[in-house]
Amino acid sequence: MLNLFKNEEKRYFALNHFYRKKFGKKVFKISLNGGFTCPNIDGTVGSGGCIYCSSGSGQFGGNPREDLSTQFSKIKDMMHQKWKSALYIGYFQANTNTYAPVSELRKKYETVLKEKNVVGLSISTRPDAISDEVLDYLEELQKRTFLTVELGLQTIHPATTILINRCHSLKVFEDMVYKLSEKNINVVAHIINGLPYETKEMMIKTIEYLNTLPINGIKIHMLSITENTKLKDIWEKEKFPLLTKDEYIDIICEQLAILRPDIVIHRLTGDPKITELVEPKWLVKKFEVLNEIDKELEKREIRQGIAYKKDE
Ligand code: SF4
Repeated sequence: MLNLFKNEEKRYFALNHFYRKKFGKKVFKISLNGGFTCPNIDGTVGSGGCIYCSSGSGQFGGNPREDLSTQFSKIKDMMHQKWKSALYIGYFQANTNTYAPVSELRKKYETVLKEKNVVGLSISTRPDAISDEVLDYLEELQKRTFLTVELGLQTIHPATTILINRCHSLKVFEDMVYKLSEKNINVVAHIINGLPYETKEMMIKTIEYLNTLPINGIKIHMLSITENTKLKDIWEKEKFPLLTKDEYIDIICEQLAILRPDIVIHRLTGDPKITELVEPKWLVKKFEVLNEIDKELEKREIRQGIAYKKDE
């Protein structure tokens, strides 16, 4: 097996390690809010949005009332105090960041690319919100910067997809992964563990499926119930079981064991806005969860991909 973990303290292929290998320096992603909307909110493909979405799924993006340069500088200046020689990736996080005409995207993306020490862009979006024209522009961008497109999937299971009101099929996701990959664009898939009524086996199946696709990275979230969401209403009514911290860590360990070893781990837990979090409360201590995952991986002698089977 390819040793991707050399000099790496983690037992999985962590994003920090990937950036260090690629750029030779510390790299920060700077979360931005480009003021985009979402076709699953405005009625184009659906209305009301995904049931867990409170404010466009980019709670940590910058302030949309500020221009992108201001948003960027505020965060960069803080990072710069500690890491003088750091590099930056502009992260368009809030809402659906390809959902606009190319002219608008160009203006926004190029504003960030012009900032000093920016080596790439990461663009979070839906798989049904990248038109052919946008795809051509992304291809052009990828030739001059380190471009990553983050695609929301959340689950491969159709009943859950309907329940959470994603309003796109697995086929749409899969087709877009191939289209982006054919243009040499890095693809990161987002999934959520602990969606209502999903079993551990279902969550493992989602990983097995992603192993078969040409993705470069994965973000694994833990479902959080936050204020002002439909999910909160459903949970209050149905009280579907939520994963305990131990259950979540157990699932993560098994998912990492079977995950293809070249897939970069961008996230392994949820990161909800604490003031809006209803449940589960254990998500508040994000670093504690990550430390416990590390300990459990060590205890079970698991490294990412140790149980990966190519033909699954
Ligand atoms: S696709 Fe993203 S922004 Fe749109 S409703 Fe779902 S979570 Fe919110």
